[in-house]
Amino acid sequence: MPTEELPRLMTFGQILHEDILAREGIPPFDNSAMDGFAVRVDDLVQLPADLRLDGEIPAGKAPNAEVESGACIRIMTGAQIPPGAEAVVPVEWTTEINQERIRIHRKPEAGAYIRRAAQDAAKHETVVKRGTRITPPVMGVIAAAGYHRIKVAKPPDVAIIVTGDELHLDVSKPLPPARIYDANGPGLVTQVLEAGGTPLGPEVARDDGGDIEFEIGRGLEADVIVISGGVSVGKYDLVQEVLDSIGFEKYFWRVRQRPGGPMLFGMIGTRPVFGLPGNPVSSAVCFQQYVRPALLAMMGAAEIHPPQIKAKLGSSVRKEAGLHHFVRGKAQWQENGPLIVHTTGPQTSNLYSSLQHANCLIHLEEEVVNPSEGEEVIITPLPWAVIG
Ligand code: AMP
Ligand code: MG
Repeated sequence: MPTEELPRLMTFGQILHEDILAREGIPPFDNSAMDGFAVRVDDLVQLPADLRLDGEIPAGKAPNAEVESGACIRIMTGAQIPPGAEAVVPVEWTTEINQERIRIHRKPEAGAYIRRAAQDAAKHETVVKRGTRITPPVMGVIAAAGYHRIKVAKPPDVAIIVTGDELHLDVSKPLPPARIYDANGPGLVTQVLEAGGTPLGPEVARDDGGDIEFEIGRGLEADVIVISGGVSVGKYDLVQEVLDSIGFEKYFWRVRQRPGGPMLFGMIGTRPVFGLPGNPVSSAVCFQQYVRPALLAMMGAAEIHPPQIKAKLGSSVRKEAGLHHFVRGKAQWQENGPLIVHTTGPQTSNLYSSLQHANCLIHLEEEVVNPSEGEEVIITPLPWAVIG
């Protein structure tokens, strides 16, 4: 994707397209970590020590005097350390004798409670790398580095087309017989948003060649097309036939996986086209497994896949050899123990709730058969969930 330069607050969730170098040191100057008194440590050999109070330095104000021998300067957290100061004595270690004299009861180490300039980052040091996703702390570091406008990858426009004569769209009207509400359209729109893309739609196509062709034609304005349903072998699964008639280059169709066996992928020109099976879990899981990494790669993200984590199965799982399974799981850390993962119950691909209650996918390789309780498996966290 091309680069665009935006005000920083418009870039949340996007992928950085430049290295961020600290304009100044972070922090830019030595400053106090406490509200207290800037002192010379040699003045505190005998305790308690009474020091002359030579004014104050609030945060944001440059010091205009140095700490003289036998004296101290009141200083606030974040205020610049004055010349001559060797440490800050926290206010809790002192008593005020009067407006001109402070009694110090404890001696700090040299350098105590002074936060050094450039402790977090040196001037011109790279603090965020190109390819990083902009999260709240990344935003904070970008701001601390002194950037107002930043270069990010333009988010890909993702056309979402759901297919099926059974889809009932006017949700203000009761559901007619034999119809269902569209779950995949809104589900995919939010998955695109989570991935940092710009969703277009969802548009709906009937199980009709002309209708599907019209919607795909509109989708050609986008950078990526995601179609749900109509990619299997049923009489009314017309998506592939339509695609073939408009210059689609097929890369693969049907994957040895569950859910999502009938998945289709190819290109129209330079535009990736994903045909996701219509069952809601197939659509959502295939999006996570294939579409999300593709969108992140298009934006130049350094990390496109979720981390792979080892966990132990909390109970046995029934599985035959032959297909790679993405099982919806709920992983939980045991107190002082391993990460245990349970399936979220029945796993057929029409049960969206199996995904709703999951915080990860359990990856069971093709050859795995009936893995038993306690067996080690690989899980990948779902980006919207937390493993607790
Ligand atoms: P298909 O891939 O078109 O054969 O659809 C497979 C199953 O998914 C069928 O039971 C469809 O009714 C269901 N389905 C397809 N599209 C959607 C959708 N947008 N929302 C909910 N269910 C759907
Ligand atoms: Mg269908």
